[in-house]
Amino acid sequence: MIRSGRRVLVFSAHAADFCSRAGGAILRFVDAGCDVQIYDLTYGEKCESPAVWNDHAEISVDEVKAIRREEILVAAEILGAPIDCLDYDDSPLLLGPERRAQLLEIIRGFRPDLVLTHWIDDYLHPDHVETVQAVLWASRYCFRPGIQTDHPPCAAPEVVCFEPIAGAAPVVGYVPNLYVDVTSVFERKKSALRALATQPELPERYEIIARYRGLEAQMSAWMKPCEMAEAYCRLGTEAAP
Ligand SMILES: [Zn+2]
Repeated sequence: MIRSGRRVLVFSAHAADFCSRAGGAILRFVDAGCDVQIYDLTYGEKCESPAVWNDHAEISVDEVKAIRREEILVAAEILGAPIDCLDYDDSPLLLGPERRAQLLEIIRGFRPDLVLTHWIDDYLHPDHVETVQAVLWASRYCFRPGIQTDHPPCAAPEVVCFEPIAGAAPVVGYVPNLYVDVTSVFERKKSALRALATQPELPERYEIIARYRGLEAQMSAWMKPCEMAEAYCRLGTEAAP
């Protein structure tokens, strides 16, 4: 999956998803000279930010968003990729025709050959399912002529799903078919996760997952040595090199 010249779009439902599930791959893409752009659809102001709400009973939604905005900017800077937040509001995140058209416009404007987003059946968080459904919708209509947007149609990108909710993979039927070795970049990923300070559990949790996925990569993908990995599920099959 990692090779130079790729144009990679990352769609993340909440503030931290892009970093916790795909931060290692993003670092590797950036290191390989690829163009990577990250979009958070929300700031995760409700579902990902209980620590802020618990510490500040009187805080407003906009203040929580501002805290999360600062965090994602620092995390993305550490990963070396630009980020924007569409600020659609989370829990529930609702992506109707207008917002889907905005995602289609983003894809046509960026012309990615690869899109990273949530697992298609990550049903323990409906915002994740809403995101992947809308991203698939946009990814499978972007090449259709006759759908009017500011940008012309572009080729359909490959869509690859990152990890579901931590610990939920067996429940939601997530069976990886692709591993990215993140051993060499994991300390940088961990720094980015630390920047998402509203969720202090992330660095340890995703280190455990990376070590387990690394073992899987060794045992089932012939990736020795690979101490730490991120697991992905490609929707489709890879073309011959
Ligand atoms: Zn999320």
